[in-house]
Order: sequence, then C-alpha cells, then structure tokens
Amino acid sequence: MKGTVLIIGAGGVGSVAAHKCAMNLDVFKKIHLASRSSAKPNAIKKDVKKRWGVDITTHVVDADKTKEVVALINKVKPEILINLALPYQDLAVMDACIAAKTNYIDTANYEHPDKAHFEYKEQWARHGAFKKAGIMGVLGAGFDPGVTNAFIAYIAKKYFDKIKYVDILDANAGSHGKSFATNFNPEINIREVTQEVKDWNKGKWVKTPAIMEKGSVHFTFNYPVAGKHESYLLFHEEMESLVKNFPTVERMRFWMTFGENYLTHLRVMESIGISRIDPVMFEGRPIIPIQFLKALLPDPASLATGYSGKAVIGCIVTGVKNGKESTKYIYNVCDHAQCFREVGSQAVSYTAGVPPVIAAMMVMKGIWKGKGVFNVEQLDPEPFLNTLAKNGLPYKVVNYKPLPAKIG
Ligand code: NDP
Repeated sequence: MKGTVLIIGAGGVGSVAAHKCAMNLDVFKKIHLASRSSAKPNAIKKDVKKRWGVDITTHVVDADKTKEVVALINKVKPEILINLALPYQDLAVMDACIAAKTNYIDTANYEHPDKAHFEYKEQWARHGAFKKAGIMGVLGAGFDPGVTNAFIAYIAKKYFDKIKYVDILDANAGSHGKSFATNFNPEINIREVTQEVKDWNKGKWVKTPAIMEKGSVHFTFNYPVAGKHESYLLFHEEMESLVKNFPTVERMRFWMTFGENYLTHLRVMESIGISRIDPVMFEGRPIIPIQFLKALLPDPASLATGYSGKAVIGCIVTGVKNGKESTKYIYNVCDHAQCFREVGSQAVSYTAGVPPVIAAMMVMKGIWKGKGVFNVEQLDPEPFLNTLAKNGLPYKVVNYKPLPAKIG
C-alpha cells in the first residue's frame, strides 16, 4: 500500500529508522516495526509516540523464515521493506520480498552464520528474480556501505571524467565511558574487524594482516573536527561493488579508527577463544562463544546515554577532468550527543539508520527507479544526499591532497 513501510529489526539501527520515518509522515503514512520478540519494538513504539506523537504498529517475526516474512508482508502490505535485522537474514528476507513482490532495502551484505565472510554474490544473484517480480532492491544503504557509495558517485559525477584513487575514512572519535563495547551488533562487528584485510591495487586485491595482528597497516590521519586518530586498513563491503561499478579506480582503501584499548581487548578475546564462531561444548551442550560474548557486552543502543564526541566518515577521491588531476574530500560529521537529544541514539546507529529511510523515500517517490537489485552508487546520488542533509546528515566537500600511495 502506498506510504506503508515495514522495518524488520528493532536494535540500535532499527530504532533510528523508526523515529526518522515518524518524522517524515508526508512519505511514511503507516509505519510497521517487527523483530524476533516484542520487547524492543514495543519500547521503540512508546518512545516514538512520546517524541513525535505518532502511532506505529509492532509485530513479531522470525526473519530467518521466509514464510513468516511473506505472511507478515501479506498482512501489512508495505510499499517497501527496510531490513535492519542481521546480515544472516538478508537472503530469507529478499526471498520473501520476491514472493510478495515488495521493494527491499538493507544496510549490510549477507553473511552465513558459520563463516565470517561477507560478499554480494548471493544477493546479486537475485537480480533476475527481483526484475521478474517487478521490484527494486537497494543493497547496503547505511552509511558505510551506503552514503560512502553515494559520496563517491557524487564526486565522480560532479567533478571528474574518471576517478583513479579512493580512500574511505571512518572515525568514531566518541567516548562512551565503557572499558569495551561495540557501536553496533557486537557479533557482526567483531566478525568484521577481525578478518584478514584486503585493499584494491591495480586491478587486484592485496591482503594484509587483521587490525589486531602484527604487521597490520595503520597511520595517523587528521580528521576534520575530530583531530588526529590512528586509522587501520580494513576490508569493508562497499569496496566490492565500488571497484566493479567504477572500473577506472586503480587504488581503493578503507580506513577505520581503533584505540589501543579496543585492540588489546580484541587480542585477548582472540587468544582465549571467546570470539570463536564455531560451537564448543559447555556443560553438555554446544554454545557459540561469540554469541555468549554478545550477551555479556553492552547493548550498542544502551551506549547512547552520555556518549560524547563525533563520528566523521568520508571519502578522499582523486580523479581527472580534462586531463588535469585533482582531489576532493567529502565527509559528514555527526555528533553523538545531538543524536541522543533527537532520537535517543548514538551517532553510529544514527548514521546507519537515517540513510535507509532516505533511500526508501527515493524509491517511494519514484526518484530511484529500476527493477532488480542495485548498489547505492548505481543510483542518482544528488537527491539522496540532499534529502539526507535535510534529515540530520549534511556533507561537506573540500579540495584536498591525495593520501600517499604507500602507507605503513
Ligand atoms: P542489533 O543487534 O542491535 O539489532 C538487530 C535487531 O534484529 C534486533 O532487534 C534483533 O532482535 C533483530 N533480529 C535478529 N535476528 C532476527 C531474526 N531472525 N528475526 C527477526 N529479527 C531479528 O543490531 P544493530 O541495530 O546494531 O544493526 C542492525 C543492522 O545494521 C546489522 O545488519 C548491521 O550490520 C547493520 N549496520 C550497518 C551499518 C552501515 O553503515 N551500513 C552500520 C551499523 C550497522 P533481538 O534483539 O531479539 O536479537
């Protein structure tokens, strides 16, 4: 039904999305929020009513089960489904959208629970089925991936004939006061950052050690507003689609800031095996250590109270226009405390939760059109970034200098 949105997932990111939909009632006339149990969606419903006077409807669904999601879609008849559960559920939810002919958006690419590895292969393989069903899927529409893809597409379109070098830099320069916590789902976060690193160089993936290992590649970058922070080379999922969609790119790297305290915790977790993803026997039954660890760590949504400082995410892009090479830096600065005042969240949930709502608006208003599955850089970046700016995530473009070809 036109104007009806169904959000699945009621964690830190799903909460921001529900609030943002409620703040844009001209587009989102009916808001449904579902998760695997009722407590979190109901708490969000209460807060949305208190802050914006808007009633949202909550549901319980197991998004691992395509049939359950199809039944929910058939009940609420959304124009679009925003999947903010975990990457494990992507394929089941996409298949439900194909069956029920409903547009789809997510923010993280598919991962199998038994293998700490993410890639677009299986989601891209559903392009034909989406096309046949006459629906649009937008993959990876959070901040990174998501806005970073749009940033690069925008710079490529506005300033250059072709782009050559890209560095994506993600700094969380905030402080939550806990000895160790992750800013989004701990299980997904730890699986992501402990992987072998890859960067793109002259048409090949080059492998380097994981961030907490000896030989990891890092340097100090002076972020706008946030200042100098140690930034580590990391493989991040947007790189897979970006090198495919911008074949002129010779070098692409992704950098994320980590403090020594965070890395020390990671090393200890790795060495004692508490971040393992394979089952171990505990008192006669199998448990997955990383899932137990998740239960011990702070819920990322709970970090918002008292979180101070900024998150700064952006892209340094070097390209060529009329034979002349130059470099632009495009970035957003997001303040943790400001996000808390607005929607009761910290900046990492906020930067991930606002963009899928704006992407949904683009599809619902017919600004982004297409049948099949798309990554964000394949769609017009300007209306997306401009609407995002009006909804709490503005961007700035400055002239810059390229980062050195060799770092570390
Ligand atoms: P949380 O763990 O806080 O929330 C996940 C939500 O999904 C919870 O409500 C959870 O329920 C629910 N859920 C989990 N499994 C199922 C299931 N089988 N059926 C229905 N609901 C389920 O995660 P975050 O909010 O931190 O992250 C959400 C997503 O956003 C993740 O995929 C993450 O990778 C992505 N993300 C993307 C970013 C980007 O910039 N692109 C940045 C940050 C995150 P319960 O609480 O009961 O387990």
